[in-house]
Amino acid sequence: MRVVIVGAGHAGVQAAETLRDEGFDGEIVLLDRDARLPYQRPPLSKDGLASGDEPLPLRGAVFYERLGIELRLGAELRGIDPGARVIELADAQGERSHITYDELVLAVGARARRLRCGDAQASRVHVLRTADDAEILRDRLADAERVVVVGSGFIGLEFAAVAATKGKRVTLLSRGSRVLGRSASATTADWLTAHLRAAGVEFVFGVEALADERDLADWPADLTVVGIGVDDCPVFADAAGAAGLATDRGVIVDASLRTSLPGIWAIGDIARFPDARGEFQRIESVQNATEQGRHVARAIVHGASDYDEVPWFWSIQAGAKLQIAGLADGADAEVVLGDPAAGKFSVLRFAGERLVCVESVNKPADHVAARKLLASAGAASVTPAAAAEPGFTLKSALVPA
Ligand SMILES: Cc1cc2nc3c(=O)[nH]c(=O)nc-3n(C[C@H](O)[C@H](O)[C@H](O)COP(=O)(O)OP(=O)(O)OC[C@H]3O[C@@H](n4cnc5c(N)ncnc54)[C@H](O)[C@@H]3O)c2cc1C
Repeated sequence: MRVVIVGAGHAGVQAAETLRDEGFDGEIVLLDRDARLPYQRPPLSKDGLASGDEPLPLRGAVFYERLGIELRLGAELRGIDPGARVIELADAQGERSHITYDELVLAVGARARRLRCGDAQASRVHVLRTADDAEILRDRLADAERVVVVGSGFIGLEFAAVAATKGKRVTLLSRGSRVLGRSASATTADWLTAHLRAAGVEFVFGVEALADERDLADWPADLTVVGIGVDDCPVFADAAGAAGLATDRGVIVDASLRTSLPGIWAIGDIARFPDARGEFQRIESVQNATEQGRHVARAIVHGASDYDEVPWFWSIQAGAKLQIAGLADGADAEVVLGDPAAGKFSVLRFAGERLVCVESVNKPADHVAARKLLASAGAASVTPAAAAEPGFTLKSALVPA
């Protein structure tokens, strides 16, 4: 039996490793179009960007050999023939080849959205997704004085923080009235804004949606970076479309991470999966990619089951660590624990009476407790009123009654 995994990022590498951990002794082929040894993405907008160090490998080169994983780098997925269970690949020279599979795992991640540009070759606006992007940005940043960042999501904020810490004049343009509009509470967002302002980032809110690089004429800079999310179409949209895979801003999978086609699974940034309440989510985080990698491998070895992990995420900006457990969908109330003025607090977010998400700023112990709590029945006892009681802590809520 042969399992082919396309994409050797956080999700794909984990899937390959867990296949072996679970006793799979067939062939594992792990492909990536990137020629580099598979690497970690988070440092590309944090320490790695600041230090200029080489990207951190996900696993050492010997790992693949030791586990009998055939790692094929510089191989891009171009097409899928689900009937024949064959995929088409192209190498850097465009040379085509084919490989058959019994099970196919799509772990191709997401692609950074760009602004339209009449001449892509002449584009002077950068994105940050790959180690190549990070290398280019590091070089440009060294020579830049004035930096403009478009987008107030995590990548934009992290890049702005590094640039400001390096003494650059940084202006961050946000379409909304605050940062992290989709991903964090106003309490956390406002705290981060003040923190980054103190680090030297200037914010401009309510900027009209930019679609084209020409829209940036009012914002001259030596270096412009856009962090405006990812493309709705997966990287291999053509291959997916031709194969007849169901897609909708990602590849649609069922609760066990199976796509609409037999023998094909999708995991990580690319997968849109139903959560415990049946609502479809596509989550961009290392934890989601890693857990889904583990899950799909176990499904292939032992049979499918529903994926049901509590999502969590972290970000580091100018020395502040933000950690988020859960998803804030439908959140309409919050209770703050700790002291934002002291730079250490957690925001408990509720949908009605139900605790759905905890954001912790410089409170790692709260984050760990929140992850455990959200995965346990104990979460039901944490209502807004209970959390607002004097002396309430997330850790105490974990103790069985
Ligand atoms: C700069 C940056 C900072 C981040 N920081 C954080 C953080 O602090 N915390 C956090 O939780 N998450 C963070 N993330 C998000 C996290 O890195 C992603 O959610 C995670 O990498 C998703 O893993 P994945 O395996 O699905 O995709 P990826 O890691 O993107 O891997 C996908 C792989 O597929 C390959 N590929 C794509 N198309 C093809 C094709 N057609 N054929 C063959 N191979 C292909 C790509 O080359 C890539 O190696 C960050 C992301 C970026 C870009």
